Amino acid sequence: MARSYDVIVVGAGLSGLMAAGAAAQGGARVALLDKQSLPGRKYLMACMGKGALSNNDLGLHRFHGRDARFVSDALTALPQGELRQWFSGQGVELVDAPHYGLIAPPQGPDSALAALVAALGQAEYLPEHRVAAVHHGADFTITLDDGRKFQAARLILSMGTPNLPQCGGEFTGLEIAQRLGHGIEPVFPAHVPLALDEPWLADLCGLWLDVDLALHTQRRELARTTGSLLFTQSGLTGQAVFNVAHEAGPALEGAERLTLAINFFPGESPTEVTRWMHEAFGSHTRENAYAVFDRLIPSALGDRLLRRQKVKPTLRAEQLEQPQREGLLRDLTDLRLQVRSTLGMAASENARGGVSLREIDPRTMHSRKVPGLYVVGSMLDITCDWGGFAQHFALASGLLAGRAAGRALDASALQG
Ligand SMILES: Cc1cc2nc3c(=O)[nH]c(=O)nc-3n(C[C@H](O)[C@H](O)[C@H](O)COP(=O)(O)OP(=O)(O)OC[C@H]3O[C@@H](n4cnc5c(N)ncnc54)[C@H](O)[C@@H]3O)c2cc1C
Repeated sequence: MARSYDVIVVGAGLSGLMAAGAAAQGGARVALLDKQSLPGRKYLMACMGKGALSNNDLGLHRFHGRDARFVSDALTALPQGELRQWFSGQGVELVDAPHYGLIAPPQGPDSALAALVAALGQAEYLPEHRVAAVHHGADFTITLDDGRKFQAARLILSMGTPNLPQCGGEFTGLEIAQRLGHGIEPVFPAHVPLALDEPWLADLCGLWLDVDLALHTQRRELARTTGSLLFTQSGLTGQAVFNVAHEAGPALEGAERLTLAINFFPGESPTEVTRWMHEAFGSHTRENAYAVFDRLIPSALGDRLLRRQKVKPTLRAEQLEQPQREGLLRDLTDLRLQVRSTLGMAASENARGGVSLREIDPRTMHSRKVPGLYVVGSMLDITCDWGGFAQHFALASGLLAGRAAGRALDASALQG
């Protein structure tokens, strides 16, 4: 016989933990099912790189995609200050980590995860329960891999996206939503390193610096940002890359030729950089061009850019030819590099695409197609910048759905 609950939440990531706790607080009998042995695995993985839960610059401008305004209600229901307060109420103080966002210890008694687990209250957490299918009749019947069945009047899907399979990412959640009648927008890696057709970049592996970065097709600019960039063996990664890479997948699939444009002097105009360059070369005419360039940018990068302009290692600053100066200036402020591919889902911290937002009520995360169904967190077709925005939305959407699923139950009990 199927075990029966008021609300079942599938997926114990940040969104599911928050949803289950909120629904249980409303008095509902709640079960939280997850296939893994521990909750919040992706969050824990995120924490290896700090794993920000929010950001001081939280706002609509940080969300992108088909309908960024969708997140508005969630951000109003759980603004950054209230998220801080929520964790503070559980004994966890979020701190601002420069470049990352608002973070908390990932593990231990004073950790964000411990707080979310404590807030589950009466909700029953069932690890190692992998959901294989869902049937919607009078209630939802949830079938596990091993054939066991669960039943609930309300179902909250918080099963994440198929990126990083080693942290639990798989397509099943989206397939279940689709079988229940939802449209799924194509899924692509979002916060993902980019591979480039420029073998010389591997020589800069490990170099980390702040840049202005833009992603272009031949016809238009797709995204622009300022932030950190890291050179790797296979290409480029880092905050700036993640903030434009979410546009790369669909464009590459459409066979667009994609180019990154890098300004190594973030926020500075080419006129200003020209002035600095002329000053540097003008005041050290007898010095070697490579030594002079070292005064402007890290030497490994400088060496590479000079070699691109075919500047001989013995050349003095005053011997640089006009086309070489122009080429260097262009490379310093608008270096164009062709993108070959993204590193794919397995290397992506987040995905874009998912359950179509048109079919979800942004005030409650309730399905407009399937009564009693809620979809939250990264399963939704939301794209955002890197730095705590995805996790904030996961928590906020979970809270809205949990509260609404509990409330909906009160209402149906009253009607009944
Ligand atoms: C390395 C890394 C770094 C990141 N850094 C940041 C960051 O700094 N800031 C930020 O905002 N975001 C970051 N993210 C993204 C962020 O972690 C996710 O957006 C967020 O965890 C999504 O939460 P979620 O609850 O929607 O999904 P998830 O955390 O993915 O949870 C989904 C859950 O569903 C379970 N599940 C899946 N299928 C089944 C099934 N068939 N049956 C039962 N259970 C199932 C999974 O086991 C998992 O526990 C990072 C991610 C990674 C991997």
